[in-house]
Order: sequence, then C-alpha cells, then structure tokens
Amino acid sequence: MIERHDTVRVSVGRVTLGGKAPVVVQSMTNTDTADVAATVAQVRDLARAGSELVRITVNNEAAAAAVPRIREQLDAMEVDVPLVGDFHFNGHRLLAGYPDCAQALAKYRINPGNVGSGEKKDAQFASMIETAIRYEKPVRIGVNWGSLDKALVASMMDENAQRAEPLDADRMMREIMVASALQSAARAEQIGLSRDHIVLSCKMSGVQDLVGVYRMLAERSDYALHLGLTEAGMGSKGIVASTAALAVLLQEGIGDTIRISLTPEPGGDRTQEVRVAQEILQSMGLRAFMPMVVACPGCGRTTSTYFQQLAQDIQSYLREQMPLWREQFPGVEEMDVAVMGCVVNGPGESKHANIGISLPGTGETPAAPVFIDGEKALTLKGDRIAEEFQEILEDYVRSRYGAA
Ligand code: SF4
Repeated sequence: MIERHDTVRVSVGRVTLGGKAPVVVQSMTNTDTADVAATVAQVRDLARAGSELVRITVNNEAAAAAVPRIREQLDAMEVDVPLVGDFHFNGHRLLAGYPDCAQALAKYRINPGNVGSGEKKDAQFASMIETAIRYEKPVRIGVNWGSLDKALVASMMDENAQRAEPLDADRMMREIMVASALQSAARAEQIGLSRDHIVLSCKMSGVQDLVGVYRMLAERSDYALHLGLTEAGMGSKGIVASTAALAVLLQEGIGDTIRISLTPEPGGDRTQEVRVAQEILQSMGLRAFMPMVVACPGCGRTTSTYFQQLAQDIQSYLREQMPLWREQFPGVEEMDVAVMGCVVNGPGESKHANIGISLPGTGETPAAPVFIDGEKALTLKGDRIAEEFQEILEDYVRSRYGAA
C-alpha cells in the first residue's frame, strides 16, 4: 500500500489534484491552438483516451482568441475536460487582453523562467497571478531546467562559490530549480493567490535529477505536485525513462498529477502519452483504467504467433469497448484477462486472472482450456477459438459487472 503525501487540494474545474485524491492523468496538444478545428479534434481524442486535463499552448493573440471557441465546441460535443493554458513571455498581455480566454481556461501554467527579465519580470508575473485571482483559477508554477530564471541562477551560483564547501553542479541545479518554484509560489501567495490554487512542477530530462528534485520539493512544501520527465524522447526510450523516474516518485507517495512527454513518431498517435500514463498508474496499483491483459512472452514451446495475435486482438477489443463499458459495467476496469502460449504456465496464470485461456503450444493437443474465476470452465477446440473466447469474455463481463 502506497502512503501518499498529503498535499494541499486544488480544484481544476471538476478535477481535484492533491490531498491524496487519485493521481490525475494529463496531456498536452501539439496542434496550432489558433487552428480551432484541429485543436478541438485532438483535445477530444486525448480526453476520450482518458486524459483528465488537457493543456494547450497559448503563445500569441490568435491562440488566445481561439481558446473560448475551442471550449465552446468541446462543450457542444459534451467533452467537458478542463483546459489548461500554457503561457510564457507574453502571457501577461494575452491574459489581460483576452478575458474570454482567461475565463475559458481552468488553469494557467506559468514558467517563472519565461515571464520576462529585469524589472519587468516581477510586474509581468504579478499581472498573471492577479488575473488568476480575478477569475478564481489555479496556477501551475512550472519550472523547466531548460529555461531557468537567469538572475536566480547567477545569484545562487555566486552564493555557492562563496561557500567553504560549495555544492557540486548537479546539486546546485536541483537547489535552483526548487528555489525557483518555492520562491515563485511564495510570491504568488503574497500577491493573494491561495495555497489551494497553486500546483508546482520542476521538470528535468534526467531520471536521477528528476527523482532528486521532487524529493526535495516534497520534503520542503505541501503544494500539489505535477510530475513529468521533460523531453523524455521517442518510442521505448521515452516510455522507459518516464516510467523509471515516475515509478520511484509515485512509490514514495510523491505526485498528484502526471504527464508523459513523449515525442510522437511523425504522424503518430498523440494519445499514446495518455495510455502510457494510465499503464504506469495501473501497473503500480494506484488506479484502474481498463482491464489488464496478462500475456506470456512466448518461447520455443510455442512457435505459432496465434497466441500473440489473440493477446493483441483481445487488448484492442477491450480498449475499444471501454468508453461504453465504463458506463455500463462499473468495475470492469479491474478485470484481469490472461492469454498464455502453452500449458507450462498457462493454466496457473489463467487461474489467477478473472478469465484466462491457455493456447496449445507446439506438439500439444490442439485444445485451449478456459478458466473463469479460478476454475476450469471449458476447453475450446477447432478454428474458432479466438471468436469463441471473445464471446465468453463478453458474457463474463455482462454477468459479472452488469449487475453492479
Ligand atoms: S507459457 Fe509456455 S509458451 Fe508462454 S513463455 Fe511460458 S513456456 Fe513459453
């Protein structure tokens, strides 16, 4: 059982972050926000995939003007996912100049390293916080190691150099990240933003750096925390690095919302980052989103790809059904389905699942025993094993979860 850090609760529209509420999955679009149709379509896809918050960049006047139209169109489609606006250098002007945008967003993300420099910095930061107070919106103070506040870096580096035993460069980087987040949060509170309207993040691209910096944040404050490895990369590298970092922190009870920053393949599916976030949380037993398919890796005992195909088909089938099943069959997301390649581990694994099938390995009798709730229920034979197993699975879902 993971003991979660008890952070301050923050409401983002209808979603709650922190205060031991379930860890929230979020994502970000990569469309031009000014392209209303493309952005609406991508937000809808991300929300349908399970993203509970969706961030969109608000980088210019056209984007700010588009935000209320995006919100309206999503509402018309009954997609009520809260939108988060990502603001950088001109955020103060956009929030002040486009009140409908400020109102339509459920949260603002402000990067304290990108709010301006010199004397303007404090005024521009204050202006965005004042807008958040006026519209009663929470703010994520999102520090990124690629865009740290240069003045803060210079002053903390100078201080470190004066120390009898200066901290090493990695430690200093983490100290500066944490200081940037906590000082900005303190400043926001001085301006009048309450603690239950503040979320912090300190994103870095190295796994050990990220783990270190969030441990420090969790130790030194009780603000709700947004976790994510920035610039995680493409494909399996991005998934593995994000999982490695987030799993350590989540296991320690750190983190109230997560985003997996994957670089999509050209033309790839943006919703992959949502599925990975859900799979991390579900694998760790923190939340359940959809039935899990347990499948063996296959080995020399099964030379056929039949069971691999069946495992993939069942996984795809379950994913397709979930939007409907979630409503019709509450609790179905906790179901385990086993698809195994031979009788060595197949029956044992199947018995532990709600429903499992053990396909015949090479040289084994062409029969596939099916186990339901730990008991052998029947044996499938012939050419329709896949179709029949899917029918049995549908019946099981109806009878087990339909009554609920
Ligand atoms: S269940 Fe059978 S086919 Fe699958 S990995 Fe184990 S021995 Fe190999």
